Amino acid sequence: MKFRLRANMATSENKQESGIEDLEEGMESLLGSENYIIVDIGANLTNKKFTRDLDSVVSRARDAGVHKIMVTGTTVQSSKEALRLTRLYPESLYSTAGVHPHEAKSWEAETESELRELLASQEVVAVGECGLDFNRNFSPQEIQLEVFEKQVSLACELKKPLFIHERDAHKEVLEVLGRHKERLPSVVIHCFTGDATMAAAYLKQGCYIGLTGYVWKDKSEDGVRRILEDGVVPLDRLLVETDSPFMYPNTRASKLPPYVKEALTEKSLTFLHRYCTFQRNEPCSLPVTIEMIAAYMKKKSEQVALQTTFNALKVFGLTT
Ligand SMILES: [Zn+2]
Repeated sequence: MKFRLRANMATSENKQESGIEDLEEGMESLLGSENYIIVDIGANLTNKKFTRDLDSVVSRARDAGVHKIMVTGTTVQSSKEALRLTRLYPESLYSTAGVHPHEAKSWEAETESELRELLASQEVVAVGECGLDFNRNFSPQEIQLEVFEKQVSLACELKKPLFIHERDAHKEVLEVLGRHKERLPSVVIHCFTGDATMAAAYLKQGCYIGLTGYVWKDKSEDGVRRILEDGVVPLDRLLVETDSPFMYPNTRASKLPPYVKEALTEKSLTFLHRYCTFQRNEPCSLPVTIEMIAAYMKKKSEQVALQTTFNALKVFGLTT
């Protein structure tokens, strides 16, 4: 199936369309298969928590069914490091290049050209993470806005997808995107933690929604769990990510509904409990998140895995 997926992911629109048909045909037969094929669209593998044993982390991920991982860049330096990692694990790791809103104040005259240089590499598949974080305001809001706008323009010009971080700045992110709507590339709202109204507004703008292990945690009236239960986000706009080493999915939490706990397979839980902790989540925990999402959506986990993988290959053009 791996090769078939790849073969179908050729870049032209037509091929993507026929790829969708083939994929849908193939889905039936895969629903009973034991192994997932998953893409983790956001893992912070440049984090120093992974320096000692990255080999094991990547190979465990593969054993768990996570075949491709996008390494998130948050500064010029970490984006360079992320690209370096992709070269160590070709066809398994990809990366993003961008400046996180927390780091917006580090933007300098040469930052844009450095990002351009990184984005010229095939392995660098998105601009980001970039965006606005008005929750913690580690950089002044005016600077965040300026730096975000620059990166949105860059993504439009280079036709590379945007990998967006947003906290308490939903309206402002939409405003910036709206100013570029004529030529926006695919947009991913990564680690979405907003409510149903926000999800609907992002979807209306054409954005994809990235979900992490946070789905265990949310219990607000119209938060992520509710959104999934109510089918607010269609499967063809959903992407999954671990945001490792963060966002550990705590499947033992008492507030996780019994029907979700029951849907978790032993294999996925083994990877989670053997290798992941609150201190260090890993890409190999992603099957658990897939199974939680599937339980909320009342779908088969294989279907959620396959569709989100298809979405990721399409959005980020992971063709190699
Ligand atoms: Zn983020």
